[in-house]
Amino acid sequence: MLRSTKIVATLGPSSSDPHTLDQLVSAGIDVVRLNFSHGTVDDHKKRIELLQQAMRNHDRTIALMADLQGPKIRIGKFAGSKILLKPGQKFILDAHCTLGDATRVGLDYPELVEDVAAGDTLLLDDGRVIMDVAHIEESEIHCIVRQGSELSNNKGINKQGGGLSAPALTAKDIEDIKTAAELQVDYVAVSFPKSGGDLRLARKLLHKAGSQALVVAKIERCEAVENLEDILHACDGVMVARGDLAVEVGDAAVPALQKKIIRRAREHNKFAITATQMMESMIHSPVPTRAEVSDVANAVLDGTDAVMLSAETAAGDFPVETVLAMARICHEAEKSTDAAALDRHFLDRVFTRIDQSIAMAALFTAHHLQVKAIVSLTQSGSTALWISRLDCGVPIYAMTPDVRTRYKVSVYRGVYPLMLRYTGNDRDELLFEAEEELIRSGAVEIGDLIVLTYGEPIGQAGGTNMLKLVRVGEQRPT
Ligand code: PGA
Ligand code: MN
Repeated sequence: MLRSTKIVATLGPSSSDPHTLDQLVSAGIDVVRLNFSHGTVDDHKKRIELLQQAMRNHDRTIALMADLQGPKIRIGKFAGSKILLKPGQKFILDAHCTLGDATRVGLDYPELVEDVAAGDTLLLDDGRVIMDVAHIEESEIHCIVRQGSELSNNKGINKQGGGLSAPALTAKDIEDIKTAAELQVDYVAVSFPKSGGDLRLARKLLHKAGSQALVVAKIERCEAVENLEDILHACDGVMVARGDLAVEVGDAAVPALQKKIIRRAREHNKFAITATQMMESMIHSPVPTRAEVSDVANAVLDGTDAVMLSAETAAGDFPVETVLAMARICHEAEKSTDAAALDRHFLDRVFTRIDQSIAMAALFTAHHLQVKAIVSLTQSGSTALWISRLDCGVPIYAMTPDVRTRYKVSVYRGVYPLMLRYTGNDRDELLFEAEEELIRSGAVEIGDLIVLTYGEPIGQAGGTNMLKLVRVGEQRPT
């Protein structure tokens, strides 16, 4: 059985040499994440070139995701690069401070002063340091440290409960969207969106830059949780961005939110990526903890399309081992997913489009006939997406002549991109070519029963309107 959950790996210093990238590709990554919070455009370009070489070596389709930095608020630098904060002590966040010391530090976002009030709680360095705001004095936020720890240069600040006015797309993000378009990435992840409007703006800017990249909404703000429905209408997929989300809503609320976000995404025909600290200990250890194994497996059981690695592959000591371990855990967890779940929800689905009806019919048929594969001959990949929103345990092959679509479907759970070479308009030849490619790629064998979806007349984009059950090898053209 193929692994159906996809793996997103962030590239960084630990994974930018040709050998490691080649090994990551061979270990089974499906999407590469370029983190625009770090590195230069040149770094990203070099990584893409090396990735393309590795993809050719292994004949694999691996999509690119650019992750925008967004309005991550950070403290400035300290004279001695770090300080130690003790509970009960006073500390000042001062927009006018240039070099921090034991009593105060600067801010890269002066507007924070207007966004907070006495009684608010600020979390620094992903919640390692907690401060209560005592009062505001002009450009200074006077705080009392509640939970102390070491605090070093440029650490992030979150406000508990949300409410920061910073727009989701900063000037840097707007520039980076152009870069992402130029690099021809397949997905762009928008950090800290508050509502659907932020995603619509990102998509508009992408279109303006000539990119059709799919838009991923990172759910990492309280407002994003409140506006989830609006966001789901505006995006193509979501990321459960547990790092910042846990700081804003409280860590204990995240597991239930993860389940809800993934479920709602699927119901909206959108994909979901579960991210952050999935295999955190493997940054320095060759094996995961029991808790990490359970976390990855539970994300699979929640129905996530993909699981993501951040520092584990970007800056860790064991990038390849981490991907192999994650792949192994996903694979095992998938064996236990309840394929019969299909029938419980299936009849509640509402759809009015012909192509969507065909997709649902393919799913229903595959579920009942024990077919070997569902094969969707598709231009846009939509049919494959719809079929994959309910898990029937049958691999879905998205066969398309459109190279961008092959990358786009890479993140969908249970969907495997395949090249369709035929571009003519003869139906029998088209179906023959598709069968040949399926056999060549090892997806099916002569005698297997498969469900095919396609659109007639052949050669016209859009409009899946046919469903066909095929015994592979039985209908050879004369
Ligand atoms: P980040 O986003 O790694 O870019 O912060 C993911 C998260 O917040 O979990
Ligand atoms: Mn984040």
